[in-house]
Amino acid sequence: MEFKGFTTKLVHTDRLLNSPQDGAVHQPTSNSVLFEYKRVEDLVDVFQGRSNGHAYSRQSSGSINALQNMLASMEGGIGALTFASGMAAITTCLLSLLKQGDHLILSQFLFGNTNSFANTLRGFGIEVSLVDVTDVNQVKQAVQPNTRALYLETIANPVTQVADLNAIGRLCEELGLLYMVDNTMTPAYLFDARAARASLLVGSLTKYMAGHGHVLGGAVIDTGLFDWTDFPNINEAYKSQPSNMWGLLQIKKKGLRDMGGCLTPDSAHLISIGMETLALRLDKTCANALTLATYLSSHPKVAKVYYPGLSDHPQHQLARAQFSQYGGILSLDLVPGADCFAFLNSLELVINATHLGDTRTLAIPVAHTIYYEMGAEQRARMAISDNMIRLSIGIEDIDDIIADFEQALASV
Ligand code: PLP
Repeated sequence: MEFKGFTTKLVHTDRLLNSPQDGAVHQPTSNSVLFEYKRVEDLVDVFQGRSNGHAYSRQSSGSINALQNMLASMEGGIGALTFASGMAAITTCLLSLLKQGDHLILSQFLFGNTNSFANTLRGFGIEVSLVDVTDVNQVKQAVQPNTRALYLETIANPVTQVADLNAIGRLCEELGLLYMVDNTMTPAYLFDARAARASLLVGSLTKYMAGHGHVLGGAVIDTGLFDWTDFPNINEAYKSQPSNMWGLLQIKKKGLRDMGGCLTPDSAHLISIGMETLALRLDKTCANALTLATYLSSHPKVAKVYYPGLSDHPQHQLARAQFSQYGGILSLDLVPGADCFAFLNSLELVINATHLGDTRTLAIPVAHTIYYEMGAEQRARMAISDNMIRLSIGIEDIDDIIADFEQALASV
């Protein structure tokens, strides 16, 4: 019997796909770094790609494979790799697929650390163009003969710009470009990445996927849509394998194995437990975010609310067409003159913290923290004001969240 529901599939994938021993419903966590082969010929077969056993746990292990199977199954992909954090997934993936002289098109609305990493890529001789991905024409204009890939986020943070994912997907397909989508803000329950023609999904498992602020992790998932025979940077050694696996194989060997940013088995287990309630948490989070955004947008002490679910958001129609709900991130500007720190210090339920995708509602002043390093000029270009506050909405009862904002806004 085939199960169709998102959560039904998620909570049963581990036992059905991985058949853990003794009727366990989870793959047991194994911390063994090494794997014994009685016949050395079998060990050699693993090294030479003729069999699928584990060589060393930096590259693979049973616990890690269980989570990778869950991720690939959730996104309808052909395979997944996991990493120590979202940043490990992103950097490893880019470094193992790109080389000097390549051109990469990046969204100009990227998570700060990914944006900062673009400078590291430039230092390695990779050309990087930043474009406004809410407009497919800007992407089209940035394409060069040496463009290898395009990289964007579904909903940007903190200003919540929504990329024109479907149109960019069609463009990438037409031009044979690798289309890398960081869908940290909109996991599969909210966004159908295959329908948008994404080639690789990259991003953080630390946020909504794990969900409870208790573990770091990242992943790369191949949707199976990209024709890797069009990609000039694949190492000859990997071309003896079926061509749909070339990309993941290169990321695994040149990236995970050689750079070593692997996830631990314990973390993989914690993430897979968190994922079981992904849809339940996202339903509550998104409903709370929409109600709070609506409340804040008519509050006299709030100058502006950034949330794709509001009808006056510049990409509201795009968000409506591409996502089943509008996500859990919203930002606000307090009215000029209101003391942003006094407001944040008055919050009693909402936590001042740098993180997102948690069960708890979190707040952070953007210009002074996550966007401090980039300087005032770049912040101004990105429309980040000095009293912008980013919120990550949790699963608390909405009346309690609103009451906390009401009393904190009253105090400034
Ligand atoms: N991608 C996005 C969109 C993020 O917001 C973050 C972190 O906030 C990351 C990647 C990095 O993830 P991690 O913190 O797991 O390294």
